[in-house]
Amino acid sequence: MNRDFSKARSIEQARYHALAKVWPALYLALVGDMIAVSFVHMAMAPWWATFLFPAILIPKALICSVRWYRNRDTIPPVDECVRAIRVLGIEVVVWMGLIVAWEIWLAQWGNADTLIVLMLCVAGQMVFLQFGLLQLRLASLVSGAICLAGLIYLGSGIESLVGTIGVVTVLVMGFGSFALIAYGYYFDFTSLVVSRLTLETKAEEVQLLSETNFRLANTDSLTDIGNRRRCFHDLEKALQAAADTGRAVAFGVLDLDGFKAVNDSNGHVVGDRLLHAMAARIRDTLGEFGDVYRLGGDEFAFIIAGEESPERLLEIGEDLISSVQTPIRIGDFNMLLGCSIGFATYPKSAESAEELYDRADYALFHAKRTGRSRPVVFNEEHERSVRQTALIERTLRAADLEEELYLTFQPIVDSHQNKTMLLECLARWQSPVLGLVSPAQFIVAAEQSGFISTLTPILLRKALLAIQQWPGEVGISFNLSGHDIVAPEKVLNLIGILMHSGVAPNRVEFEVTETAIMMNLDQALANLHLLKATGARISLDDFGTGYSSLSQIQKLPLDKIKVDASFVRDLETNPASRKIVSSVTALSRDLSLSCVVEGVETREQLDILQGLGCSLIQGYFYSRPMREGDVEAFLDQQLELRSSIEASASA
Ligand code: C2E
Ligand code: CA
Ligand code: CA
Repeated sequence: MNRDFSKARSIEQARYHALAKVWPALYLALVGDMIAVSFVHMAMAPWWATFLFPAILIPKALICSVRWYRNRDTIPPVDECVRAIRVLGIEVVVWMGLIVAWEIWLAQWGNADTLIVLMLCVAGQMVFLQFGLLQLRLASLVSGAICLAGLIYLGSGIESLVGTIGVVTVLVMGFGSFALIAYGYYFDFTSLVVSRLTLETKAEEVQLLSETNFRLANTDSLTDIGNRRRCFHDLEKALQAAADTGRAVAFGVLDLDGFKAVNDSNGHVVGDRLLHAMAARIRDTLGEFGDVYRLGGDEFAFIIAGEESPERLLEIGEDLISSVQTPIRIGDFNMLLGCSIGFATYPKSAESAEELYDRADYALFHAKRTGRSRPVVFNEEHERSVRQTALIERTLRAADLEEELYLTFQPIVDSHQNKTMLLECLARWQSPVLGLVSPAQFIVAAEQSGFISTLTPILLRKALLAIQQWPGEVGISFNLSGHDIVAPEKVLNLIGILMHSGVAPNRVEFEVTETAIMMNLDQALANLHLLKATGARISLDDFGTGYSSLSQIQKLPLDKIKVDASFVRDLETNPASRKIVSSVTALSRDLSLSCVVEGVETREQLDILQGLGCSLIQGYFYSRPMREGDVEAFLDQQLELRSSIEASASA
């Protein structure tokens, strides 16, 4: 049972509750009335007429009054309320009938004074009934009418006719107006309760709707796990709880390797089902350790409360990776995906949710860079590197870029003719604060913050200025980052610089990595077509380090593939590297693309590569990246060498 009126769920319960509150007082008033009537007739009427009736009724009235008082805040179920109200209504009518009859009967022993007392008592009962029993409309009307009839009867005992008519008129009008007021109250009460109940129902509906909205807004519809918003909401809560209890929180970011290739070649329906299956695997593997969320694309996150041991996190990470790596069948396709995971812990590595995400993301980036399919926990070395990157970025933003940035040039040589075809432009930064900074540091820092888009136009202008000093058959190869090719306005700016330079676009080649293209494949594709339309060429840098599939390469408007230096390093000792290089050479031939092999340092490597059919070579074997002023001498030297070889050949 409910003990709170505001929780009455129906008009019947509200009526019951209102009655329960006044009913004990009414009982007591009736008891008082009967005692008064008995008292004034005590000396005139026989004892049994005055006492017997109240002696029976008063104890019952007292018991009922106590019972109702005790239950005044209790709201029984609707059907019980209906029954109790009905029983009470009948009781009231019977009681009033008996009491009024007793009072009229007693009048025979009274005199003019007791008659007035009697009439006042009956009139009092009538008023009480009208107001106290608002919720028992019929009962209050009938019992009120009984009182009125009794009063009229008693009034007829007044000796003067005018007095009788006056009393009757006053009584009828009084009863009428009391009844009118009482019913006014009754309807006000009813409409108040009805509007409260309506309001409550509406509030419940609104609450339900907002709960549904909250759930939808926080759930990833594809995988049925929490989404990015939910993830950060829960992470904030977990950090708050951890701060209060002094416990740790680990945050992990997981990125599927090779998902984009599957999605592109097998279609989005298969891709969606794959994501759904992977989300379920990650959730099942993590089990009670923590909650899983999808941050977007093929990126998932998890919160593990109370864990900060790197060994334990690496174990969890290994379990997750092997679960993701289990072959999976979706429809007609058998698939195999990998994944990399980055972890960071609070409070050791970060103080806020944002910092924790950045650190975990850095660890993920590190995992990918240093060989995929492994977990990495953010550590102190990473922390130093993050600080160093932040320092580099700050200094770079404050630098005089025109003055401090310059280019070095490394030849890409046709090894059969010993002739430089292109010069790759490699950026250098001579900072007055930090000294000479390697591009592996400042280009990476600028790429992470997007500041690279400010550097690229400056470097391109410098490259286009430099090339004008060199023979027309030598071109330049210029590196672009992901940020440079995602936005059309940035590409159009670069095209504008190229067009205004006066350099023939066919002397210019742009190098892009597949990671850069994959930042936003559709945009990158459209923008590469724009670049290519100028007459410039496009080459795919660092080939073999990413996840390019043949179908993807075919889609790109490429002219050249640059085989990454990592395949050259162990060319002499590792047959697998030789196989990879020879198949890439064959692939590029099939696709009518040229092929450059980077990082060639020794004569032996060159011989093997020539044997595999590669002729375009870049690397220390020919030259390290040179200062602009040294390029001419290098080209002259090559020319001399060629002439002397030709001379000796013709001799
Ligand atoms: P990358 O485009 O793959 O450039 C080749 C890197 O390999 C250069 O390093 C070059 O000096 C080095 N290298 C060339 N031959 C050899 C060799 O035989 N042995 C070894 N061990 N290394 C060799 P660098 O100049 O330090 O540039 C590093 C990376 O920085 C570049 O890799 C490129 O990704 C980026 N980068 C450099 N300049 C620019 C630029 O102007 N714009 C953009 N977006 N990235 C740039
Ligand atoms: Ca390059
Ligand atoms: Ca490269």
